[in-house]
Amino acid sequence: MSETPLLQIENLTQHFPVRGRGHKVVHAVDGVSFAIGRGRTLGLVGESGCGKSTCARSIIRIYEPTSGHVRLDGQDITRLSQKQLLPLRRKMQMIFQDPYASLNGRMTVRALIGEPLRAHGAAESRRDEEDRILRMLEKVGLTREHAGRYPHEFSGGQRQRVGIARALILRPELVICDEPISALDVSIQAQIVNMLRDFQQELGLSYLFIAHDLSMVRYISDEVGVMYMGQLVEHSPAEDIYAHPLHPYTQGLLASIPVPDPSLARLQDEEGLSGDLPSPIDPPPGCRFHTRCPHATGCCREEAPALRNVGGGHAVACHLV
Ligand code: SF4
Repeated sequence: MSETPLLQIENLTQHFPVRGRGHKVVHAVDGVSFAIGRGRTLGLVGESGCGKSTCARSIIRIYEPTSGHVRLDGQDITRLSQKQLLPLRRKMQMIFQDPYASLNGRMTVRALIGEPLRAHGAAESRRDEEDRILRMLEKVGLTREHAGRYPHEFSGGQRQRVGIARALILRPELVICDEPISALDVSIQAQIVNMLRDFQQELGLSYLFIAHDLSMVRYISDEVGVMYMGQLVEHSPAEDIYAHPLHPYTQGLLASIPVPDPSLARLQDEEGLSGDLPSPIDPPPGCRFHTRCPHATGCCREEAPALRNVGGGHAVACHLV
């Protein structure tokens, strides 16, 4: 019998009402399903506004999902009250894109990292709390001397290390990484990804790793999901999606990754994505990508393609595949 995935998302939908527009809603997430096994990483990618961060926030219940189910360790947590959810929050933590905005600038690093321990009554004593904070600081590549400092005294990479220490101090099982490296210099991005991979091996963590660009999730993902306008349009083992991208949107995203070779860059200009995202208040009928797809046919404008398994765990939502 196969093991229950640590996280299972079924038909997750998140609509937000639009003020002053009657029954109109923003279709931020529309029927997304996926699962993440223990010790595994799913990379979730798509342009800004495609719904990936909303999906993350709905999973962790920062937003209350409109419909669908979120199961953690087999338990449906979708309709639990915030009080019932509290003990489960220890198992799922989040790392944010902008560690400066997500860290209270008036708290020292010691207080910031210790806050989750106190909120969950997880430390046995003040001494235990201090030991755990200092050990965690060293694990994320900072020093004991940093404990008394404030977020503004750190670089962006160091602040993200504080954010990671805060997320990991409770020894969670699932960590949702919401664009954790997008705001960092390229040289620092690799350090942070390597550190997250080391923690995964040491602690058996599962990651939902969100990024807007396929290059950022390549070295950390076991599987990759591609979102477009609130829907999952392709989902596959990581190596397969880079070798054989099937959805025209995924192909466009891959072609948009910057490359140093000018001859390849010219080729990319011809194949990369063009056009803007349509409004999520009135998504296009049929395939939502048809307004930007170079292969769209009449059928694409009328009928929405379902996400179908095409073999080897590779699923795609496109009439032409
Ligand atoms: Fe393009 Fe049609 Fe496929 Fe949509 S269904 S991605 S419009 S070919």
